[in-house]
Amino acid sequence: MWKTQERIAAFDSDRFQTLGPGFLALSLMGEAGEVADVVKKLWRTEPRMGTRDGFEALPPDVRVALAEELADVVILAVVLANHIGINIEEEAERKLSVIEERLADGYYGNESK
Ligand SMILES: [Mg+2]
Repeated sequence: MWKTQERIAAFDSDRFQTLGPGFLALSLMGEAGEVADVVKKLWRTEPRMGTRDGFEALPPDVRVALAEELADVVILAVVLANHIGINIEEEAERKLSVIEERLADGYYGNESK
């Protein structure tokens, strides 16, 4: 199991009591919303947020804010996975293989066909 998943499991069990999968799923979406909100606020004055050049346009303070919110997303996703009994590293590897197979089959880019 991914070392960080084990650390998150220990941290979670020592400090929190879950209210159930619904609470965790909503919390995960809340943190994902915080990521979107950071980008949205910058987008008001930085039109490159909607383009691939937007990565270069991220100022240092926004990078820090995104790092914190993305960490929250990962932590909550792993907490939810832990409560369900999912090894997130194995599942991510399995899913990457699925995506690779889809790419090899020409799946992406042909969604509209
Ligand atoms: Mg947060």
